[in-house]
Amino acid sequence: TDTLLEIDHLSVDYETGRGDLKALRDITFDVNKGEIVGIVGESGCGKSTLISSILRLTAPNTRFREGEIRFKGQDLLQSSERHMRDLRGADISIVFQDPMQTHNPVLTIGQQMLDIQHRSKQSKADKLAHAAKMLGAVGIPDPEARLKQYPHEFSGGMRQRIAIAMALMSEPDLLIADEPTTALDATLEVQIIERLQELQREFHCAILFISHHLGVIAELCDRVVVMYAGAVVESGEVREIFHNPKHPYTRRLIECDPGHIKERARVLPTIPGEVPDLANLPGGCIFRDRCDQAMARCATQVPPLDQLKKGHHAACWLNHEEVTT
Ligand code: SF4
Ligand code: MG
Repeated sequence: TDTLLEIDHLSVDYETGRGDLKALRDITFDVNKGEIVGIVGESGCGKSTLISSILRLTAPNTRFREGEIRFKGQDLLQSSERHMRDLRGADISIVFQDPMQTHNPVLTIGQQMLDIQHRSKQSKADKLAHAAKMLGAVGIPDPEARLKQYPHEFSGGMRQRIAIAMALMSEPDLLIADEPTTALDATLEVQIIERLQELQREFHCAILFISHHLGVIAELCDRVVVMYAGAVVESGEVREIFHNPKHPYTRRLIECDPGHIKERARVLPTIPGEVPDLANLPGGCIFRDRCDQAMARCATQVPPLDQLKKGHHAACWLNHEEVTT
């Protein structure tokens, strides 16, 4: 099959002093080989828990309550720590929002890129040549000379390019990009997005791209999963989601972040209201308090994630009426 990553009815809690925090509830979606899937949502929607669950780097108070995370068919929640370490080094890589999380400030970029290749039997000269080639691939000019420099000698945009080069060195099957452009200005953001598209074609890796900007997702991704308060509220192909959004939350996200990232103003309107308290979830639809189309049943009944057409799902009673009548 072409499926690389399968998130299958995943529910994750955090045990806290004030009760269980339901961080993820019944999350289901796939990432196919070589595909770019975007996860969009505000902070608090569960994006960080999802990433740390896939990498099995969760806090000690995490409880995997239900579901599976399968990578190449193997359930990661049942895998040994050793297997996870091997995966994280080679098959699954991550790029963070802040590249300084990746870079060691006291080592040159060249030394750090040698360290990543510690398992390789190649000579040091070959490893440095590979490192320079990767810096070139992400658009760093004069890569041989720049290998001798330290992270602080690069601009923020350059540091993020280097973090991407490092993440791709092992030729992973899956690159997780956790808001990699959020800290950059719009021009640099566009450059990084375009570079990621080229790299995806060159390296044939799948990308799971996390962002709170729907405009960025639209630019880069094949499919998008919209998350709200720890649940999937809509998912589908990017074009379909933009031209035919079916969940009120998705529609509000599009209103707030309408277009092409090259033209967009940096200060965007936000959706009024707050994400509900995950330790004390209301009954009914989780978006109810912020929804201007809420009906009586929305207060008491949780809308199911209906398939509206092939590959397009949404969880809202408004569509449920269409689907079932
Ligand atoms: Fe709004 Fe009701 Fe749909 Fe929830 S189910 S998004 S409250 S209309
Ligand atoms: Mg987060």
